[in-house]
Amino acid sequence: MPKPECEEALDRLFEYIDHELPEDEIHQIGEHLKQCAPCEAEHKINEKIKRLVNRTGHDVAPEDLRARILTTIRATRPDGAT
Ligand SMILES: [Zn+2]
Repeated sequence: MPKPECEEALDRLFEYIDHELPEDEIHQIGEHLKQCAPCEAEHKINEKIKRLVNRTGHDVAPEDLRARILTTIRATRPDGAT
């Protein structure tokens, strides 16, 4: 069961990564991530996904992106075998 501050941080994680939050909320979530390993792990994963999205140059929904990453992983296999 996540703590209320964890729920709040995770709820705003995408906006936090996109810097779409007011300064005080960015600070608040930043402080929480420093103290909370599970939330920080979640933050790192989502930041990585966000970076991959930026690299494609498209605004892709996370669901689409996951599928795209899986496709990429399969495509990079030398023989394309399953
Ligand atoms: Zn947390």
